[in-house]
Amino acid sequence: MKARAFSYFRARTVEEALDAHARGGDEARFIAGGQSLVPALALRLQAPRILIDINHIDELRGVRRDGEWLRIGALTRHCEMLSEPLIAEFAPLLRAAAPFVAHPAIRNRGTLGGSVALADPSSEFPAVVLALDAEIEIAGAAGRRRVRAGDFFLDLFETALAPGELLVAVHIPLFRSNQRIAFDELARRRGDYALVGCGIVGSFENDLIQDIRIAFFSVGNVPTRARHAEAALVGARMDADRIVAAQAGLDNDLAPADSDDVPPAMRLHLARVLLGRLLGRIGEAA
Ligand code: FAD
Repeated sequence: MKARAFSYFRARTVEEALDAHARGGDEARFIAGGQSLVPALALRLQAPRILIDINHIDELRGVRRDGEWLRIGALTRHCEMLSEPLIAEFAPLLRAAAPFVAHPAIRNRGTLGGSVALADPSSEFPAVVLALDAEIEIAGAAGRRRVRAGDFFLDLFETALAPGELLVAVHIPLFRSNQRIAFDELARRRGDYALVGCGIVGSFENDLIQDIRIAFFSVGNVPTRARHAEAALVGARMDADRIVAAQAGLDNDLAPADSDDVPPAMRLHLARVLLGRLLGRIGEAA
């Protein structure tokens, strides 16, 4: 299939992009890496009349330290998660997740902003920004604001972005020396979307888990914190009993929907297996 005819506008600033979108209304779409939007156009799942190219907006580029935060511009490509030294040092969970996102050709073009704005429930990065307690910087007609990741993902492909708003950057609290991370997913083939995936950040004090954030993806409409599992771990040592208790907590945390490929009970089982592996790795590292 071919995409419906559309006009093209190359924005040079955030303001130009917002103005162009306001003029186009429902018929306008921003395009970043195009790795999700272009297939949707080709299949006519979407048929906008105007595409606003945001790839030439300098403000959306670059990774830099900003006080206690790492500011990652929306246009940062998935492949940069693997090559950018500041991400390795200050946001290693993003780096750990990147090899699981699609294939090299897609990682060369796809952007962090596009992945977070799209909010595909099977995507790695939305869950990672949730685990990291990141803040999403948004620009719109009413000005700028920052939204915590926990308040950003609202429902299936639905976020706190209002129509015509632009995701400018993702701000991540700097990784600290007492923290440990782990990321993994279970997929039928490397590069496929995960059957279930999980990212974890834990802080330790004298071998005790001070704080831990566990975020799953591919188990519901939005990336999901495993709060009962977290509560089973805080204040304890990471030993076998605690890991079993955290796995049991998932019964209250996750409610996978019925789907053609994996029954809910199987997905929950896979989530427990994955959590056990990841907590074991974090325990060894600590
Ligand atoms: P685009 O395709 O350009 O845009 C996607 C949507 O986000 C559009 O609606 C667009 O208007 C909007 N948007 C983009 N940027 C912004 C912004 N800054 N502000 C507001 N709205 C914006 N992803 C995974 O996570 N895991 C995978 O395993 C995976 N496998 C894939 C396999 C294949 C074969 C393909 C084609 C894609 C796969 N993807 C996967 C998707 C890929 O990661 C996309 O790159 C990503 O989801 C979207 O980023 P993008 O920059 O390409 O966005």
